[in-house]
Amino acid sequence: MEHEHNQSDQKTLSIDAFHWHMGLLQNLDVGLIVLDRQHRVHLWNTFMANYSGLTDSDVRERNLFELFPDLPAAWFKRKLNTVFHLRNRAFITWQERPRLFNFKPNRPFTGKATQMYQNLTLIPLTSPDGEVHQIGILVYDMTDVAMSHQDLQSANEELERLSRTDRLTGLHNRGYWEECLQHEYDRYLRSSRSSSLIMLDIDHFKQINDTYGHQAGDQVIRSLAHLIGEHIRSTDSAGRYGGEEFGILLPDTSDSHAEVLAERLRRAAQDAKIYYGDETIRFTLSLGIAESQVDDTHYENWLKRADEALYRSKQNGRNQTSLD
Ligand code: GH3
Ligand code: MG
Ligand code: MG
Repeated sequence: MEHEHNQSDQKTLSIDAFHWHMGLLQNLDVGLIVLDRQHRVHLWNTFMANYSGLTDSDVRERNLFELFPDLPAAWFKRKLNTVFHLRNRAFITWQERPRLFNFKPNRPFTGKATQMYQNLTLIPLTSPDGEVHQIGILVYDMTDVAMSHQDLQSANEELERLSRTDRLTGLHNRGYWEECLQHEYDRYLRSSRSSSLIMLDIDHFKQINDTYGHQAGDQVIRSLAHLIGEHIRSTDSAGRYGGEEFGILLPDTSDSHAEVLAERLRRAAQDAKIYYGDETIRFTLSLGIAESQVDDTHYENWLKRADEALYRSKQNGRNQTSLD
């Protein structure tokens, strides 16, 4: 019996004790509400008054869900019922649900957030008759924690994005592009819907560097990357494979369809004029295409076939597209 009593003391708080704590908590930076089974408000501290704009006398004895029609009523009533029924405390974090009350945060360091993030604790309050007729609700302002968590997350995402991106062109870098290629090859083996790969390289690029300088060469590389971006679909992946060599992965595309794109890109490059200072730079491309094959067994062999096709374009006089 003694043991049982202690256990219920841990789970619940007598109303007297709660009111005593209330005096202490009234002015703390935590919201405090006491509700009965009909969801009528019996206690509403300064935190709640400040953020809601409703005073203790505005809300006293009134139904919480009528006072705040935008509360997630079904969900919160279920939570309250569970606490009444099980007589156990319940905790709800801002990660599970960002907030119960749509309060505007007013601290300067949470400037970015337009809504307060809240943790909630629901405490069953035991009456002298041993019954739980009321529940105490603590509302913690977690906005600063949520904001620094979000900052950290977006910093990580940005870092992740940077680690996949080629600095000069903004396209995928070689490492990430090869990852895409590997995934695409694995997908192809499962689905057997063919994909195609275009490898391309600027013709006589050393001459461009030698004639106009390395900076001008960089500008040509950037312009080509931009041109590639204009020609591919959002499902295609373009990457900078080497200095002035690029790869384009075309999922669900036959080599003859890839050839149409490759030729369009080749002609666009041939027609492009790159203005650098007073100079107008022209360039051409050689391209190689390979369609995925089961025999490749590994994406590197697929890549090798596309590279060999590109080499043939170079051998045969450049400014052309070859199919594997
Ligand atoms: P080919 O037609 O056979 O491709 O002739 P190429 O002169 O283009 O020969 P290759 O592809 O071997 O040479 C590439 C040159 O590109 C060599 C290197 O100095 C230059 N290069 C590599 N990366 C960069 C870069 O980021 N910027 C600039 N400006 N040049 C680069
Ligand atoms: Mg080249
Ligand atoms: Mg090259």
